Amino acid sequence: MGTGTAVVWLRNDLRLSDNPALSAAAASYDTVAPVFVWSPDEAGAWSPGTASRSWLALSLASLFVDIGRLGGHLSILAGPTASALLGFARATGATVVYWNRRYEPALAALDAHVERRLAAAGVRVHVFAGSLLREPEALTTGSGSPYQVFTPFMNAGLRAAPVDPPIAAPSLLVSPHTLPTGLRPQDIAGTSRRSRPLGTSRSGLRPQDIAGTSRSGPDLSLMWSPGESGAARAAASFFGEIVDDYGENRNRPDRLGTSRLSPHIAFGEISSRTLLQQANAIVSCNGSCHISAGAEAFVRQLYWREFAYHILHHHPHTPERPLRNSFDVFPWSRDPGALEAWQSGMTGYPIVDAGMRELLATGWMHNRVRMLVASLLTKDLLLPWVDGARWFWERLADADLANNTFGWQWVAGCGADAAPYFRIFNPVLQGERFDPDGAYVKRWVPELEALPAAWVHRPWGAPSGVLASAGITLGREYPQPIVDHASARLRALAVYGSLRDIVK
Ligand SMILES: Cc1cc2nc3c(=O)[nH]c(=O)nc-3n(C[C@H](O)[C@H](O)[C@H](O)COP(=O)(O)OP(=O)(O)OC[C@H]3O[C@@H](n4cnc5c(N)ncnc54)[C@H](O)[C@@H]3O)c2cc1C
Repeated sequence: MGTGTAVVWLRNDLRLSDNPALSAAAASYDTVAPVFVWSPDEAGAWSPGTASRSWLALSLASLFVDIGRLGGHLSILAGPTASALLGFARATGATVVYWNRRYEPALAALDAHVERRLAAAGVRVHVFAGSLLREPEALTTGSGSPYQVFTPFMNAGLRAAPVDPPIAAPSLLVSPHTLPTGLRPQDIAGTSRRSRPLGTSRSGLRPQDIAGTSRSGPDLSLMWSPGESGAARAAASFFGEIVDDYGENRNRPDRLGTSRLSPHIAFGEISSRTLLQQANAIVSCNGSCHISAGAEAFVRQLYWREFAYHILHHHPHTPERPLRNSFDVFPWSRDPGALEAWQSGMTGYPIVDAGMRELLATGWMHNRVRMLVASLLTKDLLLPWVDGARWFWERLADADLANNTFGWQWVAGCGADAAPYFRIFNPVLQGERFDPDGAYVKRWVPELEALPAAWVHRPWGAPSGVLASAGITLGREYPQPIVDHASARLRALAVYGSLRDIVK
């Protein structure tokens, strides 16, 4: 154990368990100063949205308590980051800063800049890998290039050397006892926007100062438990009660069929290595013992996340531009009214509107429904996938640049291993298949509550007497469909088809 102080810069790894940077610092130094720097503008075009800010504030509040229980103190500072960290290192007497690597292009560039600034000031940096099962460079095709197709990528991952097991949380954290008064936010790098100290000599921003910067959004604390212990409970509930039927239920928005771990994972409150280890422990024994089918399907989802990071890392332009650059010439429409109807859940397609309203109310949307709403936007309405990605970014508590970019490009047909151009989800048939009783729609679109299940996914087809007794006049209580799906589909096929030769 070295004497002196190590700073641990926490970012999207808001946990104590399996946090390689934190554990390494705690094992090597007798004093550890964990710090979070709030500097949203430095994330460039993808600075955190409303729901992410709310989640972050709650998660930091939870981590603040957790670190305190181990005897340490989490400082929360205002950016700019490099100056804030330099000031913090000087004030704590630290000559070293530990952190876990990030992969988002603007954030990776910021980390490189911070590292240079610290190095120039004589502060060493130790970078660890804590977010993925394997680093995005770890798997390559036989010819040494990045993968473009998911299944070979996952198979390579399953064949590769086992993923390292998770690391235990430190049992004790000793932070510098008193942080100098100079460490109040307004004293760091001239940042004066938020200047309330924590109320102790260990000053900084409070978690709620971050929430206070968010625009209006749902109260996430009503439906979620952000923080490491909330993540652990969500994982325990998934592996205890949901995983057995995950393969069957994961496409059903009307059931509690998935883990709902995504915001916890996005903020690093639980690591994918921990989840992999827990999934691998769910075995079913029939003759011989092997990982259960539900757990195997879950591991596959973890690999989709790995693949999304692999793609983002190797193709850092993709948050703004399609992976398939031939799509740069795609003739997207512009229709602010249609975009607004989609954003507010007023398209007249019940399953789409239910999803968009679930997003507004909870900061989350079911994966099947994410695909349906994205298909309506990019194929039926021919609106740019980036507009959809930006709205999701603003409203998703699990907003994750790799997964969001990947998901949107997959549906729009312009990404890696993307849905073929002729796959255009039919929102009525999909609704009838995955929400057969209309329970999901009725939950989020209460105007349709009294409509019989047979019509709930296509109210415009219901006989007028049925609509009347359900208290609905289309165009008044609930909109007419924004577009006729059958003709929109033909239009999309024609547009996509005319580009087929170049978008292959
Ligand atoms: C258009 C679109 C946008 C999306 N945007 C995001 C986003 O911003 N953030 C995000 O985390 N996921 C995103 N996804 C992927 C997926 O919808 C969510 O991860 C999933 O719905 C989260 O719910 P869950 O935790 O219950 O998932 P589960 O089914 O329980 O899966 C477990 C975990 O695996 C990962 N995962 C699951 N499906 C995918 C997938 N298709 N791609 C990548 N990782 C996956 C997630 O980390 C998830 O929490 C998007 C998908 C689409 C189609």
